[in-house]
Amino acid sequence: MGDIRITVWNEYQHEKVNEFVGGIYPDGIHGAIAEGLKQHGFNSVRTATLDEPQHGLTDEVLAETDVLTWWGHRAHAQVCDEVVDKVQNRVLEGMGLIVLHSGHFSKIFRKLMGTTCSIHWREADERERIWVVKPSHPIAHGLPPYFVNEECEMYGELFDIPTPDDLVFVSWFEGGNVFRSGACFHRGNGKIFYFRPGHETYPIFHQPIIRRVIANGVRWAAPAGGPEFPYTVPGTVGHIGINEKEPHETISDKGSLRERVG
Ligand code: ZN
Repeated sequence: MGDIRITVWNEYQHEKVNEFVGGIYPDGIHGAIAEGLKQHGFNSVRTATLDEPQHGLTDEVLAETDVLTWWGHRAHAQVCDEVVDKVQNRVLEGMGLIVLHSGHFSKIFRKLMGTTCSIHWREADERERIWVVKPSHPIAHGLPPYFVNEECEMYGELFDIPTPDDLVFVSWFEGGNVFRSGACFHRGNGKIFYFRPGHETYPIFHQPIIRRVIANGVRWAAPAGGPEFPYTVPGTVGHIGINEKEPHETISDKGSLRERVG
């Protein structure tokens, strides 16, 4: 566990321009998420933010990242497409990706999903009850049957995502909406976990149970060590097909199609 290399990415904008948000997250949202991961025994945790060169996601950083967590909200459009392509490539190669809250609208999540990822939403300090609907899933490890956010922003269906490979959480909101709050996907060799809570005006990422879910998500999303994904071009951004000229077994001679059809 200690050797899973984690990069916590945050656009880090609200905290700098909004005093209230800065008060909740004096070390940035990334600082709070990184602190939670360290509490759960992860030793290799680095952070990266939008304003750094290449948003802190250089080739070297991505190559040394087993799991990337992503929080963004107001600056999705400022994330450069070349970096998005590189992150996608790394996911296909096996890097885990944890997408948090408003990260549903990030370029990288929409690219990996292939859908709009649109939602319904409301800011009304609502109570949220998050139900574990797949208790056998590793992300549910150590959790009670449900947990509560006393006040939060509402996200409601329809959430325009592909049908998840696994659905771990479903949320109920005071105002009557429901939402698929914990959804797992596989793309190439990579695993993706979307987790809903985390609006910047609430101390969500300081909460022990939220930190536990993110830690569980990181463990689940870490590379599985299976055979190498064959369709990325190492060191570049590109996807290839492979022409297998040499078969693995002898293919019998069936004559020409013209003869068989007569
Ligand atoms: Zn939000």
